[in-house]
Amino acid sequence: MIYQTGKPEHLIFLDIDGVLRPATAYDGKLQKKAIAHVKVVAKALNSRIVITSTWRDIHSWEMFNRPDIFDGIVIGETPDIDHLHGENGRYHEVLAWLKQSDNEDVPWIALEDKPVHYPELPNVFLTNPETGIDQDVVDSILGNRDTKQESPTIGDILGAELHGKVRQYAAAREISLETALRQLVRAGTFLMKEG
Ligand SMILES: [Mg+2]
Repeated sequence: MIYQTGKPEHLIFLDIDGVLRPATAYDGKLQKKAIAHVKVVAKALNSRIVITSTWRDIHSWEMFNRPDIFDGIVIGETPDIDHLHGENGRYHEVLAWLKQSDNEDVPWIALEDKPVHYPELPNVFLTNPETGIDQDVVDSILGNRDTKQESPTIGDILGAELHGKVRQYAAAREISLETALRQLVRAGTFLMKEG
């Protein structure tokens, strides 16, 4: 089921047992600390949450929107189709949800304690099933994000000469470099003729 208002900027596909509470502790209580860790990640990445856990078969995903849990940022649950796939079942469920909800272009991460549910991907973060999500997992998620921000700049990609031309264009029109680049690429002439 999918509930959405507008396109999310980022998605967290969230397992419950082994992530929000120890996988062996079946007392039904989600750990406040684990919830807080997920909220830190969600806030940093401006994420919405989609539930992948089998909890979704018993509880409505909407209960996770309680003010003391995720307070409104949970937008759905993945379809239960893992039996159709030999392995990486949850990964296929995630892909199906992204397609159904027209969010295939939205970046996502998964939080999961069982490696069997996903292929090895840099955006799948495994938690220790005995403890659930901890600070180390949070750091590795947000640390990766910082690394991405060190990816090449516009100047690195264009080279000095072309970068200079784009900067001139931007300065002459008092627009940002990004806007200038977008306009020039859309016009299709500047980069083709002079690049
Ligand atoms: Mg689990």
